[in-house]
Amino acid sequence: MNAEEIICTQKEAFQEDTDEPPSTCSVLTALTAPPPVNRINRTLFNVISPSTRQFINRYFPGVRDEQWNDWRWQIRNRIQSVKQFTQYVQLSDEEEKALSRGRKSFPFAITPYYLSLISPFDPSDPVRMSVVPNIREYDIAEDEKDDPLNEDGCSPVPGLVHRYPNRVLFLATDFCSVCCRYCTRSRLIGNVHRENCRNNWAAAIEYIEQHPEIEDVLISGGDPLTLPLQPLENLLARLKRIEHLKLIRIGSKVPVVLPQRISLNLVNMLKKYHPLFISIHFTHPRELTEETKEACARLANAGIPLGSQTVLLKGINDNVQTMRELMMGLLSFRVRPYYLYQCDPIRGSKHFRTPVQTGLDIIQGLRGFISGYAIPHYVIDAPGGGGKIPLLPDYTRGYNGNNLQLRNYAGNLYQYPDTEPSPCE
Ligand code: SF4
Repeated sequence: MNAEEIICTQKEAFQEDTDEPPSTCSVLTALTAPPPVNRINRTLFNVISPSTRQFINRYFPGVRDEQWNDWRWQIRNRIQSVKQFTQYVQLSDEEEKALSRGRKSFPFAITPYYLSLISPFDPSDPVRMSVVPNIREYDIAEDEKDDPLNEDGCSPVPGLVHRYPNRVLFLATDFCSVCCRYCTRSRLIGNVHRENCRNNWAAAIEYIEQHPEIEDVLISGGDPLTLPLQPLENLLARLKRIEHLKLIRIGSKVPVVLPQRISLNLVNMLKKYHPLFISIHFTHPRELTEETKEACARLANAGIPLGSQTVLLKGINDNVQTMRELMMGLLSFRVRPYYLYQCDPIRGSKHFRTPVQTGLDIIQGLRGFISGYAIPHYVIDAPGGGGKIPLLPDYTRGYNGNNLQLRNYAGNLYQYPDTEPSPCE
């Protein structure tokens, strides 16, 4: 396949979640030949929570439910300028300065749905802080970088990161419906002049085909669930045909910021590509709305195991109570908490980054107090490209002879009769 033939413009996402292959994708379609998605199942989203209903009545009174629940309408009507934003939100000085200055390398964008979750008057609202620019993001610390994880340096071909022996990260798109201010890939999301990521698909697929050690591909971006239905299916179908690939995963924030995208058409398509896992990016318990619950239920009902990823963020979710609420809420949404990330040192992230001890204290405050299923792995993605390194509070207190001294979740001491004494004894 050549690049020209597989490009479908991002514009499609704003036009139609088409059930039939767009003609511009004809060659990739022909290569993969997935069956067309059943037209009868074209069912849009249908949940509006009471608080969002109030927001619609106030700010979008002429908008019909079918429009609001149409993900393409949500994307077309994203709020991207100061002028638009001030119609809904009273800006703080720090926000106004940042928005007026305009960080060209990383735009501001928020869906009307996600806007309905933020407080119009409180700049310290955690959901608002995570997506609204603040002048502090222009304060660049010495050790911060555009690509702190050296993803570009671990890319054998553009758009593919091969860091671990048996798995790769496939950057399928540079588009996100909402721009998180702490985004590790802001260098990619913000670069509006970058060539369309789909130009890279063919070479990335070819690389995976030529490397039988690769068993697992994580499709990320940007947000792959913002891709139109047919190109996304083409990609999944093409990957599915690679025999040594045992698992396909998708990383997305769409169920949280654009739950309307989780149409029955989408889940009916996704469930053809099992084993398929989805990791959903959650930040705060306020994101656990009726809409997101429905989106997760649709995916889970399609047999897709759901995990979560959360970035630890100062002033947003950096305390035990918030994390407890989020993690337990995720379980009730049938999402298994997976990773809690220490915030990467991207440029302008200092105001978001907590001491590592904060993350350890949170894990300690969760372990033993809530179900083990609700406790994520706390990790630092090592700067420079070392991969994820797990961190745990220290529950050991050294050896007494053969006995390993242990501290339990409540701080009580116990000992385990080990089969051999510690090598340090
Ligand atoms: S959803 Fe993920 S990739 Fe997109 S802006 Fe947020 S953190 Fe970045």
